[in-house]
Amino acid sequence: MNRNLYDKLIFDHSHPGRKGYDLPRYDWPEAMSKLPSELMRSDAPQLPEVDEPTVVRHYTNQSTNNFGVDTGFYPLGSCTMKYNPKLNDKLAANDTIARLHPRQPEDTVQGALEIYWNLQRALSEIGGMAEFTLNPFAGAHGELTGLLVIKAYHESRADFARTKVIVPDSAHGTNPASAHVAGYEVVEVKSLPDGTVDVDDLCSKLGPDIAAVMMTNPNTVGMFEKNIPTISKVVHEAGALLYYDGANLNPMLGIARPGDMGFDVMHINLHKTFSTPHGGGGPGAGPVGVRAGLEQFLPNPRVYKKEDGTFGVNDYSDSALGRISSWLGNYTVLIRALAYIMTLGAEGIAEVGPLATLNANYIMNALKDKYLLPIPGPCKHEFVFDGLIDKSTGITTLNIAKRLLDLGFHAPTIYFPLLFHESLMIEPTETESRETLDTFIDAMRTIAREAAENPDVVKTAPHNTPARHPDDTEAALHPVVTYSQYLEKFESE
Ligand SMILES: *Cc1c(COP(=O)(O)O)cnc(C)c1O
Repeated sequence: MNRNLYDKLIFDHSHPGRKGYDLPRYDWPEAMSKLPSELMRSDAPQLPEVDEPTVVRHYTNQSTNNFGVDTGFYPLGSCTMKYNPKLNDKLAANDTIARLHPRQPEDTVQGALEIYWNLQRALSEIGGMAEFTLNPFAGAHGELTGLLVIKAYHESRADFARTKVIVPDSAHGTNPASAHVAGYEVVEVKSLPDGTVDVDDLCSKLGPDIAAVMMTNPNTVGMFEKNIPTISKVVHEAGALLYYDGANLNPMLGIARPGDMGFDVMHINLHKTFSTPHGGGGPGAGPVGVRAGLEQFLPNPRVYKKEDGTFGVNDYSDSALGRISSWLGNYTVLIRALAYIMTLGAEGIAEVGPLATLNANYIMNALKDKYLLPIPGPCKHEFVFDGLIDKSTGITTLNIAKRLLDLGFHAPTIYFPLLFHESLMIEPTETESRETLDTFIDAMRTIAREAAENPDVVKTAPHNTPARHPDDTEAALHPVVTYSQYLEKFESE
């Protein structure tokens, strides 16, 4: 157990009788008499007794133990950790938005509905889709929603034989997981040595039992699937629908549209491409778009524009999936995405992809003499190394990732995609300056040199982070999430 980490618990600062709050005087005795006695507590809760400066310092210090895109470069491949402009937060925090209640009558929230409708339209334009739902809370949630839409489509045609979904072996783990949750069996399709989908293998697996083919384009090794017109043709001829995992939409923004490539259903991760916060697992948003003809299978509620120009919210309808989330989704996340789109405008949006692609190729070319590049470039917005070229040092991708933390960078994505043993997936995004990219390149070259000259310093990294070598397995099997668990664990050692 890493005592240093736990020493900082707020309970450890507690002293009986000390306090840093002052509650308003209680002057509503009638309310008290109405509370059922079995709901009243007899003892005071056991809370830390601390003064205000201690609380402030505790939480401020905790916040500096974290690494975020506001503290440094975060090249986490597949996650598009671009900078989130503060203007987005400012708009989302505006009182007229932040204080809305979801049950407010429609005529009192027309502005908010218009914002929502504008985002539905903007994403439809960017994706080349007929309509979008903004309800889902994450990319994975969007995948599930999209697959349920596909299921509803096949069932509406009384086609119940389609029980399987095809997923490439380079796909994100959420693809097969979502297919399973939606009730489908997963069939894997292979990648060619250049990282793109093997069309022959795909064709051999298509048939009347396939409901959908899920694709990511550019894929998770940063390669554009150039056979997409053929893939779209064979998938549709087989009666299946083509699903677009939009996690990698960033390099395509304003340049190519999934709808034009033949995709029927897609999701977008707003916390990736559209600069909303990733926020430690939430809140996020994974809007789902569909081509014309599939709109009626989308979940509700959605916002629509009435003939008189005002906005309404449709609720359940017979053909829709019903609800996939509470209310309209993560509204303040959606606002941030629209703020981002409007700030950039059509011209700015089209510059995002080329810049992200340039930055990725810049890093890739500056490091490929030291790190093994299994798929030669050029890449799109991200690329994958297979560890160091020199395997004799025994330095693994995990070691490299940990050493980067010492040098002030968040680690890239490691051991994904599963196509290579030592995957190290780097995605710089378009928001980083040349100087930042150069400093990162220096750090990666330093590690390559250390691996040859002083491998121990890399193997034992990180040396200067607040937590050093947490036991991932132990933390997953026996998480310590309460103070009493902490005391139990700590005292038993
Ligand atoms: C991030 C990601 C997902 C899942 O999205 P979440 O928003 O994290 O649920 C799916 N596919 C790919 C390729 C991704 O990078």
